[in-house]
Amino acid sequence: MKVMVTGGAGFIGSAVCRHLVGDLGVSVVNVDKLTYASNLTSLSSIADNPLYHFYKLDICDGAAMRDVMQREAVDCIMHLAAESHVDRSIEGPSAFIQTNILGTFALLEAARDYWSSLSGKAKENFRFHHVSTDEVFGDLPFDESKFTEETPYAPSSPYSASKAASDHLVRAWSRTYGLPTVLSNTCNNYGPYQFPEKLIPVTILNALGGQKLPVYGTGNNVRDWLHVEDHARALALVLKNGALDESYNIGAEAERSNLSVAQAICDILDKRCPRKDGQSYRSQIHFVTDRPGHDRRYAIDAAKARADLGWSAQWTFESGLAQTVTWYLENESWWQPLRAHHDTSQRLGLVR
Ligand code: NAD
Repeated sequence: MKVMVTGGAGFIGSAVCRHLVGDLGVSVVNVDKLTYASNLTSLSSIADNPLYHFYKLDICDGAAMRDVMQREAVDCIMHLAAESHVDRSIEGPSAFIQTNILGTFALLEAARDYWSSLSGKAKENFRFHHVSTDEVFGDLPFDESKFTEETPYAPSSPYSASKAASDHLVRAWSRTYGLPTVLSNTCNNYGPYQFPEKLIPVTILNALGGQKLPVYGTGNNVRDWLHVEDHARALALVLKNGALDESYNIGAEAERSNLSVAQAICDILDKRCPRKDGQSYRSQIHFVTDRPGHDRRYAIDAAKARADLGWSAQWTFESGLAQTVTWYLENESWWQPLRAHHDTSQRLGLVR
């Protein structure tokens, strides 16, 4: 089996490539534009593996996408390439519309053309797996039940609206053109190799750097947290065993408020590398003006993925967070150049 993975140099995409090539022995064709969010060093463990191939390309270039599919004779596509940071989508939505909507459109058209050219088993087995987010379901009140696959879409941010649009395109290409598709919607991911502008790495690295730990509003917004390695395993199962035209919600039942996540990181660091002045890292927590349109809560009901795919998360949030903190402590050579080249310490603050 040869899988074309888009966005394979990003946080989740690189975990998927490492899992498919390193753990499952599956061939991967990684197509990535290498935006600021990418990092090829996240793929160093498989870079020389003959099962792994890389193309630096933009998914918006439909002809190039079609060419790679043909040249590599790919069996299926897992589409992760996207602009993914909500704060950036508020500051400048254009790239999100371009990549997440128009890029998905270009990729779907290329896939449709390629799939139409196939015959026999290759055509029968082909599928287009679109990787999406729980943010498409929008603002979930604290007392309401979790998102299921039937929850109506109600995106709030330019990011989630662009992802919702791409999900709709995928469903339309399935229903109208018969393109074999499968979709997954996942909660917040965390783990090693996450670009240091997202909540967990920003908090770890700002704490170590003696900087403020920005938390939006009162910190009571709740997210459901999934370790990226559990997500990669789930995605491989959705691709292989997911039913056509179906969607799967993937989540680890680990709802935590943003404040409790920041505090949990401080508590781990207090034990692992206590501050010289004896104070807790919690004293660096700093509440900043809330994000516009900030959804209160996301929560995933993953019963369908568990029942139909036999998947369940292996990391608890506590064990996964401790492993993640350890990874950032031990892999300064990975994140230091990113911190040096991008001012990521304030990104979460959205200071205007
Ligand atoms: P990321 O920002 O870390 O990586 C995105 C990757 O896509 C980067 O390597 C980037 O270079 C590439 N890319 C961007 N635009 C491209 C283009 N036009 N052509 C080719 N490549 C391009 O994102 P991530 O956190 O790994 O998320 C991957 C996917 O999973 C996204 O579709 C995202 O919406 C979805 N998702 C993410 C989360 C999360 O918590 N991170 C949760 C649910 C779903």
